[in-house]
Amino acid sequence: MTRPPSPALLQTLADLLGPKGYSSDSETMTPWLTDWRGKYHGAAAAMLSPASTEEVAAIVRLCAAEGVAVVPQGGNSGMVGGATPDASGDQLLLSLRRMNRVRQIDGTAHIAIAEAGVILENFHHAALEKGLRFPLTLGGKGSATIGGLVSTNAGGTQVLRHGTMRALVAGVEAVLPDGSIFDGLAPLKKDNRGYDLRHLLCGAEGTLGIVTAASLRLVPATAARQTAWIGLDSPATALVLLRRLDAAIGSALEGFEIIPRNCVEAVLRHIPQTRDPLADRYPWYALVELAGDQHDALAADLETELAAAIDAGLVGDVAIAKNDSESEDFWRLRDSISEAERAEGPALQHDVSVPVDLMPRFIAENPARLEAAFPGLRALSFGHLGDGNIHHHVQPPADVDGKAWLTANGEAASRIVYRHVIELGGSISAEHGIGQMKRDILAELDSPARLAALRAIKAGLDPEGLFNPGKLIA
Ligand SMILES: Cc1cc2nc3c(=O)[nH]c(=O)nc-3n(C[C@H](O)[C@H](O)[C@H](O)COP(=O)(O)OP(=O)(O)OC[C@H]3O[C@@H](n4cnc5c(N)ncnc54)[C@H](O)[C@@H]3O)c2cc1C
Repeated sequence: MTRPPSPALLQTLADLLGPKGYSSDSETMTPWLTDWRGKYHGAAAAMLSPASTEEVAAIVRLCAAEGVAVVPQGGNSGMVGGATPDASGDQLLLSLRRMNRVRQIDGTAHIAIAEAGVILENFHHAALEKGLRFPLTLGGKGSATIGGLVSTNAGGTQVLRHGTMRALVAGVEAVLPDGSIFDGLAPLKKDNRGYDLRHLLCGAEGTLGIVTAASLRLVPATAARQTAWIGLDSPATALVLLRRLDAAIGSALEGFEIIPRNCVEAVLRHIPQTRDPLADRYPWYALVELAGDQHDALAADLETELAAAIDAGLVGDVAIAKNDSESEDFWRLRDSISEAERAEGPALQHDVSVPVDLMPRFIAENPARLEAAFPGLRALSFGHLGDGNIHHHVQPPADVDGKAWLTANGEAASRIVYRHVIELGGSISAEHGIGQMKRDILAELDSPARLAALRAIKAGLDPEGLFNPGKLIA
């Protein structure tokens, strides 16, 4: 049972952190009390913005002594309400954004140590200055932080080749619920001292530890890349294309995204400076990216494979980016889908995964199941086909009050999606996490054995339930 902070505790925290690190001013806090989608609204007794790991540890010790809950937050770009406190006003918002130093970049070992509050895009630039690249990117890169990315085990558009955050985290520094500092930053290739705390903290959503810094794996900066925007008829065809490219040039294949026509149209409607790369319309598009050392070889490989796919009748038309700026234009179409969709009005968002080979079946069959239960529903599926991960969004029927419809029917519609995913052996959260949005559905649909293990881990590390209560585990 957590408690509200006493006036004495708040004063001690204000003295500890100073005016830059402590605020209870509602104007300062308000933007951080609603999630990115505008779905969850919370309140907080104060917002704490420590500048060092020692300050985080001191905060946690003081809060633990009084049984006060803390909600860690990075860039607040998460998609499941994980960083939004509850409405009681008793919790403390713990912002890591002031801890924004890249402590070191080892150009020989290809390892960087970045603090939790470093924004992903800034980290990309810092690595690039050393001729290196951090091979994880996503649409929220301008606000998502290293701590948030670690804590959600974020994915993005380069997972096909480089894996999710978990594969890129070589070490973690974190403050545990008793206020102790776990210094696991050493990038050990081999470490068999039992349970792997580093991996446990990846994807823990702030329920087990406050990540203060991470050692991250880098790769050489890309000398050459090739990006293609490809018109085709269906996800099933896209999968055939993916398999062909993988067999022919798999080591260079970094991204394979699929996008339906209706998403492209939403982006063109709402996002300035976007244009359709192809003259003809196609029901589906694949956005493919290759990265390698030599531009000419990469370009030749891609052209050969796409020409063969056109000859085989798999692909309609193709635009290959002529330079980085065109490549960015293609990616803007993909990365702006969430924003365009937000502008379109309310929708149910499902970030789900199934085995890659079953993805076309899910995309084809699920809209029919939804339509059978709720005539007029419109489903949009886009995302990371190469990872078996799709963002499956469901818009209310066109002729109803969308918000009211979602309140009345949203849960039932989502249940149709999630049950289908589980039937196919998939996961109800591919990359966004559980947060508060999926907490109850996880408790309802996940296996009892897995749930019991998750609860035991949480109870073992955070017996008082002080770290991000109400998230992930019911
Ligand atoms: C346009 C757009 C596109 C996106 N695309 C993708 C995508 O392709 N793939 C993907 O995986 N995600 C995507 N996201 C979601 C989001 O960017 C990621 O979930 C990201 O990891 C969140 O980082 P953040 O710093 O904003 O974390 P927040 O939103 O602040 O927090 C997320 C969770 O992590 C916890 N947390 C934050 N910092 C810490 C810390 N230091 N220690 C412990 N816990 C912490 C919070 O309590 C919360 O539970 C997208 C978001 C946007 C807005």
